[in-house]
Amino acid sequence: MTQPDRHILGISGGRDSAALAVYMRQHHPELPLEYFFTDTGKELPEVYTFLDRLEGFLGKPILRLNPDRDFDFWLDEYGNFLPSPRTRWCTRQLKLRPLEKWLRADLDAGVTVHSYVAIRADEPTREGYQATHDNMQVHLPLREAGIDRAGVIEMLQQADVGEPDYYSWRSRSGCTFCFFQQKIEWVRLAEHHPDRFAEAVDYEKTALRDGSPFTWSQGESLPELIRPARAEQIKVDYERRRERLKLRRPANPLADAAADTIDDVYGIDEAAGGCVICHK
Ligand code: SF4
Repeated sequence: MTQPDRHILGISGGRDSAALAVYMRQHHPELPLEYFFTDTGKELPEVYTFLDRLEGFLGKPILRLNPDRDFDFWLDEYGNFLPSPRTRWCTRQLKLRPLEKWLRADLDAGVTVHSYVAIRADEPTREGYQATHDNMQVHLPLREAGIDRAGVIEMLQQADVGEPDYYSWRSRSGCTFCFFQQKIEWVRLAEHHPDRFAEAVDYEKTALRDGSPFTWSQGESLPELIRPARAEQIKVDYERRRERLKLRRPANPLADAAADTIDDVYGIDEAAGGCVICHK
């Protein structure tokens, strides 16, 4: 007997995947969607609060896929070298591996898995969400429906889900130690979650002791970055850039200032180097 198709939707803890879940609940309630979240074990507390709110709207649980081996195990395996854009073991081991493990048996048994991915209409086509198995089919409902970033924000507001609370002080990822963070985000991590920042400092000290060429943030260690004069300089630089962005932007009464992210301010493609699993 052929097994029924599976329909999966990965929630990253960010706004786009949450909006996609809302969209699918509203437009395709007939689909037996399996919502999942791959939990690195190093997520910001705001992520869990947001997942709870989203579950409330969806009316069903978001399955937590936990890696069989945690951040500390993999850090040890990689000789205490911190994950970095060049050696991005966090995504591979803590996000992709648990997902592959979850699907592998069904995919190999011939089950078609439909994966719904949160690529918006206003984003360029890019790598990172293609099917990784012949039996996997990828769908991009937000793009097909012409939903852009403003549409995503509006949808989340109307559904009373809102945005992850960490968006008020950082962009994108909910991973506490993401090396894609801007310096201003490290400064703010120290302010919002001093205990998590202290943990990051400890990981960095161990990495440097063991010969890692990488600090969490390029060119300086976290203790250097957080010295009062340096932290102040980072804040001032960020505010200047933000002001410049506002001035450059054509006047548009419909534009939602709240939609500006730290990536916008630094002129960074919000998906640069990221993948849809962890940054959407
Ligand atoms: S969000 Fe950052 S830290 Fe988390 S898995 Fe992705 S790249 Fe790694």
